[in-house]
Amino acid sequence: MKNHMYGNTKTWNPFKGCEFSCIYCKPSFQGQAKRQKHNCLDCYAFKPHEHKIEDRAMPSSPTVFFCGNADISFARPDFIRLAIARVKDHLKRCPYKQFYFQSKNPKCFEQYLGDFPKGNSILLTTLETNRDEGYNLVSQSPVPSQRYEAFKAIDWPRKIVTIEPIMDFDHDIFLEWITSIKPEAVWIGYNSHPDKVQLPEPSLEKTQKFIAALKSAGIEVKEKDIREAI
Ligand code: SF4
Repeated sequence: MKNHMYGNTKTWNPFKGCEFSCIYCKPSFQGQAKRQKHNCLDCYAFKPHEHKIEDRAMPSSPTVFFCGNADISFARPDFIRLAIARVKDHLKRCPYKQFYFQSKNPKCFEQYLGDFPKGNSILLTTLETNRDEGYNLVSQSPVPSQRYEAFKAIDWPRKIVTIEPIMDFDHDIFLEWITSIKPEAVWIGYNSHPDKVQLPEPSLEKTQKFIAALKSAGIEVKEKDIREAI
């Protein structure tokens, strides 16, 4: 499946589903999963579950999102290790490829640091805001401050932060968070389904100022759906 968030990237999905119940997931990943009703009821329900690794062809794209329609923190570590072994096998034939590993519970990455293929793996987490208050109305994932601390503490050279869908934030605190993570890039954008989900959004001016500050700090910024707040 082509992943529209991340450009020339396709997902490889031996593991699917997530129970963080982000309200903005319903029109996106969970909505896509509903199309699987006749193939897999667990996919349809977005319930964390495994598919046979050998049945899932590795995408041809130069960048592959590892289990992009899931959060791997819900997976059995033994299964993830088997899936990573398949990735490493694939890299023997395609050493130029890179893999994205994303979780909204970045603490889960710790157990795989010895497994991820070095040089080909980029770790990602989402931070929509720095504000914890009220976040439980948006998602059941670890609150932003916990996610930030856990992701910063991960000893890995290549990281990306996705600030999407962006929610209102405190400029100085959030900038300090992002720069201290030392990501090679930040991807930032507003909620792409404002007709279906409403979030507390920063003004366009505030977001543009934040983007400029990230760039001044030497961070590559990829923008998507940058618009006036609704
Ligand atoms: S963490 Fe990701 S996959 Fe899980 S509910 Fe939230 S947006 Fe969906």
